Amino acid sequence: SGAYDVDTLINAVPNLGKLASISGEQVVNIGSQDMNDDVWLQLAKALSATLAKDDVDGALIMHGTDTLEETSYFLSLVTKSPKPVVMVGSMRPATAISADGPGNIYNGVAVAADPKASGRGTLVSLNDEFHYARNVVKTNTTSVQTFESINRGPAGLVHTGTVEWFEPMDKKVGAQTEFSVDGLDTLPRVDVIYAHANMSADLIDAAVKNGAKGIVVAGVGDGNMTSPALETLKKIAASGVVVVRSTRLPQGLVLRNNEVNDDEMGFVASGELNPAKSRVLLQLALTLTSDPGRIQAMFYDY
Ligand code: GLU
Repeated sequence: SGAYDVDTLINAVPNLGKLASISGEQVVNIGSQDMNDDVWLQLAKALSATLAKDDVDGALIMHGTDTLEETSYFLSLVTKSPKPVVMVGSMRPATAISADGPGNIYNGVAVAADPKASGRGTLVSLNDEFHYARNVVKTNTTSVQTFESINRGPAGLVHTGTVEWFEPMDKKVGAQTEFSVDGLDTLPRVDVIYAHANMSADLIDAAVKNGAKGIVVAGVGDGNMTSPALETLKKIAASGVVVVRSTRLPQGLVLRNNEVNDDEMGFVASGELNPAKSRVLLQLALTLTSDPGRIQAMFYDY
């Protein structure tokens, strides 16, 4: 990944100019496993500046697939313009037999050029489907059919440039959110800790010692974890570090006050958001507040 620049990738797609008038802007050229807070902020600002131009009707962002579910959710929460933003990736490199990149770019441009894509937050388009950023997760290490909106389903289908919409988005995006990257140069540190049998509190302590302002637990089942981990997190939450319970499972909701008494522990329940997406939302939430009640409301709204 990261081997070709944006113009090379655009020029590899036949007939793209029939869908839209395209110009490329190279923000970075990295494998998405190296995505970090600095690049997120740089990308969000570059995207908003581009969308503000009168002669731009929408944007397509090419991104590696590994962290696509995180970057897309971040951009969806902070990009105020209602103009369509579609992210695409590819599972096979450009040099592979049956590379999927050019087809994904073609269909992604078709979605971005569709007036119905306006105001829906960032969309992710691959393999003839497109998804709301909030819902989409990568589910398969190597298959071209890897992106799914697990508890819901895709926002629509796109085939050879023909776009069909399904469900509307019921969560707040873009200008409806309270988040902004204006004036932000860094994001608060949030670590994800994976729960398992015999989980100790050592990694939780290490995260806080190293400056984490928030902790997301990829919990067992309905966001649960061992008693030592719960006890340590209760103390940490009382000290002002925000604790979000998510789950290591691919489906279902983490319910507030169901298996764990979040009111008593001072925790936030992640609902539908997996650990990676919970981390994005918690980082943005912590730019505004460390009140668990207010942050719980954000997890319901976004
Ligand atoms: N690890 C790479 C990335 O996410 C490869 C997968 C891909 O290119 O989509 O950037």
